[in-house]
Amino acid sequence: MIDISQMTLEQLESTIESCALCPLHSGRNHAVPGEGPARADIMFIGEGPGFHEDRQGRPFVGAAGKFLEELLANISMTREQVYIANVIKCRAPGNRDPQPEELTACKPYLDRQIEIIQPKVIVTLGRFSMYRYFPGQSISKIHGQPRQAGNVLVVPMFHPAAALHQPKWRPLIEADFQKLPQLVAKMEQSGPIEPEPKAQQLSLF
Ligand code: SF4
Repeated sequence: MIDISQMTLEQLESTIESCALCPLHSGRNHAVPGEGPARADIMFIGEGPGFHEDRQGRPFVGAAGKFLEELLANISMTREQVYIANVIKCRAPGNRDPQPEELTACKPYLDRQIEIIQPKVIVTLGRFSMYRYFPGQSISKIHGQPRQAGNVLVVPMFHPAAALHQPKWRPLIEADFQKLPQLVAKMEQSGPIEPEPKAQQLSLF
C-alpha cells in the first residue's frame, strides 16, 4: 500500500477512487470516499455504499440520504457542514456484510480521514461503524450514549435506512440527533484531551 499518512483529504479521496486493495474494487461503478469539508465538527460514519451511492460515487444518497438531511435540518444544519464517510468505500455485492479482510484493507483510509478532519463528534451509523468503538454492543441498548475516545466523542445511532424501515426507531434517532449540538459545544469547552487509545478500537479494524 502506498503511504497515505501525509496525504491531504483531496489526495486521499483520489487514491480511494482508484484503489484495488481488496476484491470489492472489481464490482464497483464508483468508489465512495466520503464527502464534506476538510475540517468538520461532526463526522458521520456509515457502513458502505449501496446501489445509488455506487452509481453516483457519493455517500448517503437516496431515501436514507434524504432522511439524514432531514435529521440535520432539525438541528439547523446541512450536509455541507458535516463530513460523511463509510467504513468500506466500495459496494459489496448485493449489499452483503463486508468481510474481515475487506475491513482491514480499507481501514487506513478511514483512520486518515479522521486524522485530517479532526471531528469533535463522530456519529456511527450501522453495525460495522459502531463496532469500531463499541465492539460486540447492541445499538438498541447503547444508541445516543456518547463515549469519549481520545479527542473525540463517539455517539452510536441507528442507521437512517434502518429507522425508515422500522418506524419505532424513527423517534429514537430523531431524539439522538437533538443531542448533537450540545455534544459539540461540550467538546469545544473541554478542548484537546489525549490521543485515541488503540485498545478502544476493534482489533479487526
Ligand atoms: S473497499 Fe476499500 S480497500 Fe477495497 S478496493 Fe475499495 S477502497 Fe480499496
